Amino acid sequence: MPAPSDPARFAAPPIDRRSFLQVGAASAIAAGLGGPAHAVIRPRPIHRVAPKARNIIFMVSDGMSSGTLALAQTYSARQLGHDSHWARLWKRPGVRRASATTHSADSIVTDSAAGGAAWGCGEHCNNEQLNWTPDGRQPVPILVQARQQGKATGVVTTARVTHATPASFIVNCPRRDAEGPIAAQMLERGFDVALGGGAKYFPDELIANHASYTVVRDRAAMLAAPAAGPLLGLFHKSHMSYALDRPETEPTLAEMTRAALARLSASPDGFVMQIEGGRIDHGAHDNDAGAMLFDQLAFDEAVGAAVEFIDGRDDTLLILTSDHGNANPGFTLYTRRGEEAFPRLANLKHSFEWMNARLAKTPKDQFADRLHESVREATGITLADDEMSMLLASYAGKRVSAFAELNSPACVLGGLLANTLGVSFMSPNHTADLVEVTAAGPGAEELPELIDNIDLWKLMVNAMDLAPAKPPG
Ligand SMILES: [Zn+2]
Repeated sequence: MPAPSDPARFAAPPIDRRSFLQVGAASAIAAGLGGPAHAVIRPRPIHRVAPKARNIIFMVSDGMSSGTLALAQTYSARQLGHDSHWARLWKRPGVRRASATTHSADSIVTDSAAGGAAWGCGEHCNNEQLNWTPDGRQPVPILVQARQQGKATGVVTTARVTHATPASFIVNCPRRDAEGPIAAQMLERGFDVALGGGAKYFPDELIANHASYTVVRDRAAMLAAPAAGPLLGLFHKSHMSYALDRPETEPTLAEMTRAALARLSASPDGFVMQIEGGRIDHGAHDNDAGAMLFDQLAFDEAVGAAVEFIDGRDDTLLILTSDHGNANPGFTLYTRRGEEAFPRLANLKHSFEWMNARLAKTPKDQFADRLHESVREATGITLADDEMSMLLASYAGKRVSAFAELNSPACVLGGLLANTLGVSFMSPNHTADLVEVTAAGPGAEELPELIDNIDLWKLMVNAMDLAPAKPPG
């Protein structure tokens, strides 16, 4: 796609990229044949201008290693009888795939603030910093830039809406953990839709100062919200529940995605939005195969909702990716053991978070029994005595794992369950792996096979032909 300053974009009659190249080639041929050096060769009358994206849907499975994507695909194929929505997208004509780098300005292994900022402003920032460069500049985030040009904007997440990834498209902040000031800055700068968790960072006084927002606090209120005006959905005081533990009062990521798309697509000038599966990352940090897998499957349903939206239209750029790998999980048992493990994985009932909530305030002398029982209830697995000894030793701070990073109770439990569930983890940390990028729609053709994460910002700005940003008002 020509750069915004390229006169070819504004030439009359309008020509598309292919015709532009044809004109160039024809001129060269004419010159080679001894024709006039400045011959003007008119392009054939052309169908239409190189399509620009009117809308952008940027979807992030936070902390998704390739093994997580593979696990959701295996589950979809075996349990649901079809490929995942993400894998199905690969087969559509014109869809491009790439691998992306994930490093930040100061670390081989990025965090989600720098990872999100790479897309949010097109610059490598240090870990923990949101659109705040190592030399102290504050480049304008993409949703602020899009809003300046009349686009509707939105963020949807299963984490807190003030968490690093959604914040990275709206705010400038040197500290990702300053979520109170981040909430205020989000409301100040404005958005059309923000749906997720994080109610504790939106106290009544703050909301009272921004009376134009309709605030909804459960699934039913979201579905019944008035169509006009900006919408803020806060479905949990902190992060929303894992898909495995979700109460009926919280909407699914796919439901939030549909609700946001319905509102944003009413905008006369198009929209830009980010949708995040925010807790795939948390499940991976916890080495909790069930929490991670079922949140990835919930993300995949949201991908299905986004694909429904782009079906039959050619004005929307859809990008699916992750900010970094996490814990590099993989299904790793052969033949019969694998066949026995997979149904157990598919039938998990609850997350480690659910178990921990049950264990809170348990008297010391009842802890071991309660732990044993909670694991069985959540997973259907009865830990053996020697396994319980290892787990209790990790609770007591004793070293039980060769790799010291894997010594937390969550990692030890994840390792013990791997014997039965077949999913093993390499650490409780983000990793520096390349991540998957899938792109469909106008602008997708510009995706190179290997892309630095900051260049996805450039790809979006070019696809929409966004004018340079003004400082936020
Ligand atoms: Zn993380």
